Amino acid sequence: MKDIIQLMPDHLANQIAAGEVVQRPASVVKELMENALDAGATDIQLIVKDAGKELIQVVDNGCGMSPMDARMSFERHATSKIRSIDDLFAIHTMGFRGEALASIAAVAQVELKTRREEDELGVLLNIEASELKRQEPVSCPKGTNFAIRNLFYNVPARRKFLKSNTSEYKHIVEEFIRIAMAFPDINFKLFHNNAEQFVLNAGNLKNRVVDLLGNRVEKSLIPVSEKTELLTIEGFVGKPSTATRSRGNQFFFVNNRFIRSAYLNHALRSAYEELIEKDAYPLYALRLELNADRVDVNVHPSKQEVKFDDEQMLYAYLQSAVKHALAKFNVAPSLDFTLNPEIQNVDAVRLPVSDETKRQAQSGFLANHFSEKGRAHLMASRQDREEWEQQRSHFFPSWPAAQTHVEPSATSSVSGGLPDVFSDISMPKSDNPSGTLQWGAYLLTTVKSGFLLVHRLRAKERILFESLQRRMQLEKPTVQQLLFPFEMELPPAELILVREALPFLMAIGFALTVEGQHKIVVSGLPPNISESGGRQVLSVLIEQIQISPLALKDPLKKVLLEKMARSMAQGSQTNILNDDSLIDELFACDEPQQSLSGQRNFIILTSEKLNSLLSER
Ligand code: ADP
Ligand code: MG
Repeated sequence: MKDIIQLMPDHLANQIAAGEVVQRPASVVKELMENALDAGATDIQLIVKDAGKELIQVVDNGCGMSPMDARMSFERHATSKIRSIDDLFAIHTMGFRGEALASIAAVAQVELKTRREEDELGVLLNIEASELKRQEPVSCPKGTNFAIRNLFYNVPARRKFLKSNTSEYKHIVEEFIRIAMAFPDINFKLFHNNAEQFVLNAGNLKNRVVDLLGNRVEKSLIPVSEKTELLTIEGFVGKPSTATRSRGNQFFFVNNRFIRSAYLNHALRSAYEELIEKDAYPLYALRLELNADRVDVNVHPSKQEVKFDDEQMLYAYLQSAVKHALAKFNVAPSLDFTLNPEIQNVDAVRLPVSDETKRQAQSGFLANHFSEKGRAHLMASRQDREEWEQQRSHFFPSWPAAQTHVEPSATSSVSGGLPDVFSDISMPKSDNPSGTLQWGAYLLTTVKSGFLLVHRLRAKERILFESLQRRMQLEKPTVQQLLFPFEMELPPAELILVREALPFLMAIGFALTVEGQHKIVVSGLPPNISESGGRQVLSVLIEQIQISPLALKDPLKKVLLEKMARSMAQGSQTNILNDDSLIDELFACDEPQQSLSGQRNFIILTSEKLNSLLSER
């Protein structure tokens, strides 16, 4: 029998490798932008069409390549960044494996134009599916210009696998933001379908954070800065009020590389302890610098996971640095925790909060938002409560009982459509308005068969939920046009979600437009919602879509409507649905008995039940 083992042809090997390196357009963005940074560029433009499916182009003003290097760069394992195994332990560049370009060129049509400063002419290369199609001299600016077209055009199975444009573009923006955040001293631009999306001018980290996450975070940033011989940490954490339900605003960089680490996330989270709710994520943008030989970055192919040689130490260090920052700005009580000896030597821990640092901190803008030392989180919660109180009274400023059903109810009424068990309920109506008693969370009234005990909040949620459901079914929702439209600032990644959610938001009665990268302008609200109520509801919805993007795909939008109903019900508290009409409204619902989470909305205390309760000894 003949021997059967063969060497794979290069293009096949490259295509297989591409499976690991290039998952989606955003992976190409990452590799090309990192190469531009490695090339020492100070200006980097990313140009994307059709969420990267048609075009991903990165133009830099870096060192460029000689014609020979340009050709070589597409070979597998071709890199200018490591020469010996020792280099691997002292990596200062973003790339080093030498497989990105080979992989990308295996699954796309690539055009490269590049010129070094010392060369008069640059070189133009066209490569398709690993095959060189053209190479010729070209006159072009110094630097490198990569255009990647029709990603996966030759691997239909992968091309088909790409997600919607919204989803792929969101990944691209996230990648762009991570890189731009890690390199605040570089100018970046992003264009999508010929429209300018981001123009980021070189500056400090704070400017960059604000440019990327929006002005609204500016006043809530607390600086973190600790330097030791071993490592340096620098950046910002958010005041507790900026914590959100999703991880969207968490950026952690190790030697300029964006890193995901559940362990270190936990360290940061724990620094906030009870300052934020259990399921909330604090905002942070932190850069950790440590000797490259103390990190092993070569763990995961996409390099978002690193291994540290002493993770526990790092955990304690991060936690203490953040606690220290929070304490310094009186957001948290001062330090009172135990650490291992190595940590005790770290400045953040060793140096007490001196009068000098405190004075410095307190003269700053932030300090003015807090009271005396150690009382900040009390303050914060009081502030929160005031805000809450305000919102509450702003929800449905006037909601007379008759208006509850903004739209005509299609299906149910008290008399028709109710299950048999309720048929003997005859409501004490307006002829007996005082028939309803209220105690805490409950309403009590009499019906034919006994006392009816209603859980107010659950009932409100049910009523609002069903009225939203009905509104969704209307062809044209009722919109309460605002005399003075208001603006909301949102981080870019959330704006992308809002764009996707627009049809849904319009269907429930919001009128809004997305403007630029940070802003929506709201010109109309669903009936009976005030401005602050509208803001609140929008934030809740966006947060929910972020947590579960599939929520929008559900044709009934159940989860979203539930969230919205809950938020509205809490905001409305008293006086909104008056207690008599609340019971009427509840029994006009399709499912009056069930709360949104499947519990009971009410019970009827019949004479049998009361008898048995009363005969207990
Ligand atoms: P790696 O970045 O791991 O070295 P790549 O496949 O991404 O591997 O790139 C291969 C080589 O091509 C790099 O080592 C670098 O020498 C060169 N190169 C890639 N992009 C650029 C660029 N934008 N400017 C200058 N040189 C580049
Ligand atoms: Mg690279």
